Order: sequence, then structure tokens, then C-alpha cells
Amino acid sequence: MTTANDPTTIGRFAPSPTGPLHLGSLVTALGSYVMARHGGGRWLLRIEDLDIPRVVPGVADDMLRTLEVLGFQWDGEVLWQSRRGTVYAAALDRLLQSGVAYPCGCSRAEIARIATAPHPGDEGPVYPGLCRNGLPAGKSARSVRVRVVDEPVCFHDGLMGIICQNLASTGGDFVVKRADGLFAYQLAVVVDDAESGVNQVVRGADLLSSTPRQIHLQRLLGFPEPAYFHFPLVTDPGGAKLSKRDNAVSLAMGRDLERDGHLLLFDSLCFLGQNPPFCLREASCQEILSWAVENFSLAAVPRFAGPFPRIS
Ligand code: GLU
Repeated sequence: MTTANDPTTIGRFAPSPTGPLHLGSLVTALGSYVMARHGGGRWLLRIEDLDIPRVVPGVADDMLRTLEVLGFQWDGEVLWQSRRGTVYAAALDRLLQSGVAYPCGCSRAEIARIATAPHPGDEGPVYPGLCRNGLPAGKSARSVRVRVVDEPVCFHDGLMGIICQNLASTGGDFVVKRADGLFAYQLAVVVDDAESGVNQVVRGADLLSSTPRQIHLQRLLGFPEPAYFHFPLVTDPGGAKLSKRDNAVSLAMGRDLERDGHLLLFDSLCFLGQNPPFCLREASCQEILSWAVENFSLAAVPRFAGPFPRIS
């Protein structure tokens, strides 16, 4: 492998069971696995089933089975976010106690009405700060927000280079506990990664814009910052984002994973710009993963989204 790494690396794969694993998830699973393992590091599995209303029953177990069939072996127990409410509550409490988080009584509709930005970005309209200095009379707490500062949060992405984002002008103070009582993804991810000792985050480029918020939370909570690698997204042949429903790994290819899973792994390696010997496509999943761990080149990974190659 052509990237520096060492056996103290702890990577992870953290799918949300809101729909079956799709080709994009497979690419992320493979990328994170290979990046963690090539220097003898650990690879953890976390099921991000925190957003209960969006979780599809049975999908998490299917994900675990699919990963097993494809030859992925994770270290230790699977971490289930839905079982970790008390840990997130303790982190939230620390943020509230130190005054960097505060209760907010605004509804989404109200924020959209007041916010002035004509073209809200991915993060939605900028929170206008109505509850920043205490709940205004007549409002009661719905969510909890964390304060951001009006300066860029920058980090080095191992694939994308230097990324900077000013959180104050992209969304503003953000929610860490939602109005429905659930902890926000941003908080859970940061707490889990820190507690599990994760020091290498490999995930899809759709999460690039979440990373500055997560780094902000790491700094507030005194957690170390992992190395980040945001891998290219898989699109459909027309270049559109994959939908979990239409592109489930187990469905899209119309294939029996037990029999043909190795072909998916082979094609995923090709998507990641690797150059496996053609004969490897007939090898077992284990053999393909071993080849990938040994030969993976980060420099060869494309920086842009693209369709999944159907080589096999
Ligand atoms: N659960 C997220 C997803 O499935 C990934 C979160 C992460 O890797 O930080 O898109």
C-alpha cells in the first residue's frame, strides 16, 4: 500500500439501517476496511440506528449478514447507537454545563420564516440565534443547540485536501438534541468515535459538510481529531445520487451474494481506481480482500463521484 499507516489505526464502518446496504455503502465499507487493515490496524462496526423513526426493521441484521457473506471481519462487538442514550446524555450535559450548548424553543418553520439567507445551503437556513441568550418569554425548550464561532473550521482530508467551513454562515448554531428527544447524528458520531478510539474516519463524500461541525464538537468536548478520508460517491449511470431503495446491493445486481459477492468486491475495487489482476475476479471474497489490503493505493482513488463499473 502506498499510504503511510500503522497498527495503531482504528477505523470503522458506521451504516445507518434506514435502507439496505447499497453500492455506495459497499465502497465505503471496503475503503474503510482496507485503509484500517493494511498496517495491521483495527476495523470496528457501528450500527447508527439512532434516528428511530427512519430505521427500517430487519435492515441492520441484513447488513451484518451481507458484510459477513462478503468476507468482512470486524473487531470486537458491534456498537448499536440506540443503546447508548446515557453516554450521549452525559456528553450533552457537559456541553450544557459549560454554556456552549443551550435550549432552543424555535421550530423549523419559524426559523425558515425568519432566516434571511435567500439560498439556504445543505445545512438549511442559518439559525438566527433567537434563543442564544436565553429562551425568550413565551417559548419553551424544544431542542438543544451548540454555539458556533464566526471563523473557519479547517481540516485536512486525506483525499480532498484542505477543507474549511465557517459554521456561523453555514447553518449557524446547530442542533445536538432534537425536538423529538433524539440525540443528533453529529453528537453521537463524535462521542462514539472518541470512546471507541477511532482515529481514522473513511466515509462517503456526502458527509464532508458534516465534518467541520463534528470537529467543532470534538474541540468543545476535548476529543482528539481523527484523520479524515471522504471517498467518492457512487452514482447511477446517469450521474444521479444512488437511492438506497433502488440500489440495494442485494437487489440491484439481481445476484445471489453467497455465489457472486466476490464480483461485487472486485468491481468495488475497480471503482476505487485500483487495478486488481483480472484473474482475481474469480477468487474468493477473502482472497480479494487480502489482495486489496496488501495492494491498495490511496493515490489511485478518484476524487469525483461516478457510476459503479459493471466489469464482472
Ligand atoms: N451513518 C452514516 C451513513 O450511513 C455514516 C456516518 C459516518 O460514517 O460518520 O451515511
